[in-house]
Amino acid sequence: MSPSSWRVDLPVAGRPVLVAGGGGGALGPVAALRQAGAIITVLAPTPDAALVDLADRGLLTLHARAGVEKDVRSAWLVVAVSGDDGEDHRIEALADVCGRICLRPGGTAGDRPPSSGTDSAEVGSAGRPAGGPTGPGEVVLVGGGPGDPGLITVAGAAAVRWADVVVTDRLAPLALLDDLRPGVLVVDVSKVPGGGPTTGQDEINRLLVDHARAGRRVVRLKGGDPFVFGRGAEEWQACAEQGIAVRVIPGVTSAVAVPALAGIPVTHRDANQGFTVVSGHVPPGDPRCRLDYAALARSGTALVVLMGVGTLAAIGRALVDAGMDPSTPAVTVADGGLPAQRSVHGTASTIAGLTAAAGIRPPAITVIGAVAGFRPTA
Ligand code: SAH
Repeated sequence: MSPSSWRVDLPVAGRPVLVAGGGGGALGPVAALRQAGAIITVLAPTPDAALVDLADRGLLTLHARAGVEKDVRSAWLVVAVSGDDGEDHRIEALADVCGRICLRPGGTAGDRPPSSGTDSAEVGSAGRPAGGPTGPGEVVLVGGGPGDPGLITVAGAAAVRWADVVVTDRLAPLALLDDLRPGVLVVDVSKVPGGGPTTGQDEINRLLVDHARAGRRVVRLKGGDPFVFGRGAEEWQACAEQGIAVRVIPGVTSAVAVPALAGIPVTHRDANQGFTVVSGHVPPGDPRCRLDYAALARSGTALVVLMGVGTLAAIGRALVDAGMDPSTPAVTVADGGLPAQRSVHGTASTIAGLTAAAGIRPPAITVIGAVAGFRPTA
C-alpha cells in the first residue's frame, strides 16, 4: 500500500481503531490516530517503550499479545503495522473475514534500514546496505518541539523526511513518523519515567554511531530542544569521539511553548524580568540536587519546573520555607500541545496537592510566579 493511502480522510474521531503491531513502524500511525481523536487499541507481543508510556498515561489500550478475530470485530478500522509481512497478512485476512477495512501504511518498516542515496539500493540481511560503498553518514540532532507535529521547525521536518533512520523519544512529535519514506527505520529509545522501559544512554549513543558509520542519514528526534534537559550534548560528544559529523536543528523548548499553549506567558513586563528553567528530577534536599532553592525563591523570576510531577510537594515547600509568598500563583500544564492537554491552577503552597489530586502524570510543566495567574481580560 502506498504511503499516500493515509491521505484519504477517515472519520476516526471517537471510533475504535485497532493497531496490530508495536514496533517503530507503529509509532507514527498511532500518534497520527491520536491526534485525530481515535480510540486506539494496540496489540503487540513486545511493544515499544513509547507505546507502553501512552498506555500508562491512559491515552490508549495496550495488550502485549497478537490480535485475534474478536479484537478485529470490535474495531471500526484495523491498521496492520507489525513490520512482519506474514503477521500483517494474517491481520488483513482476519479483517477481510470480519468485514473491516485494514490499512497497511507503507511509510515505516520498523526493522529494515535503507541505504543512503538511492531508494532502490538493496538492503542486506544484517541491516547494512548491500549495494556499493556509501559516503560517511551523519547524525542530525533535531529538536521536535513539544509534541504537536505542527510545532517542529521547517528545517526539522525536512530532516525527518530525508532520514534513513529516525531514533526517537516518547516526547518527540511522533505523528510526523506517519509520513516517512518507505523503508525508513524507526527506533524507539524512550526513557519512561517511574521505572518504565528505558534504553541506556550508551546504547543510544552506539545506535547513532553505528548507523552513521554504515553511511546512513540518522535523525535523532527529540522532544523540545535537544540541549534543554535533552542529553543532546552527550550524544554530540559520543559522535565526535567516533569522528561522526553532527548537525543541530534547534527546537521549540517545552519550557516556553507548553506554558504558552496554556495561555501563560513566561515573562510579562508588569510581573518579572526573567524566567528560570529548572529540572525537578531530584527534589530539594536530595544530595544530588545542585539547585539553590532559597536563591530561586528570591530571584523575582518565574520558575518553570520540568520533570517535577513527583517532586512538586518538596519544591513548593522549599520555596515557601525560603520566603516565597505562599499565595504566589502556580499552574501545572500536562501534555502541552497534544489532544490530552490540561491545566491545573493553584498557588506555590497548593499546586502540588492539586496536581496530584487531578491525577496529572508526566509529561507536565509547572510555572510558579505572578505570570501563572495571567488571564487576558476584555
Ligand atoms: N528537551 C525537552 C525537555 C526534556 S525533559 C524540551 O526542550 O522541551 C522532559 C520534560 O519536559 C517532561 O518531564 C516535562 O516536564 C517537559 N515536557 C516536554 N514535553 C511536554 C509537553 N508536551 N507537555 C508538558 N510537559 C512537557
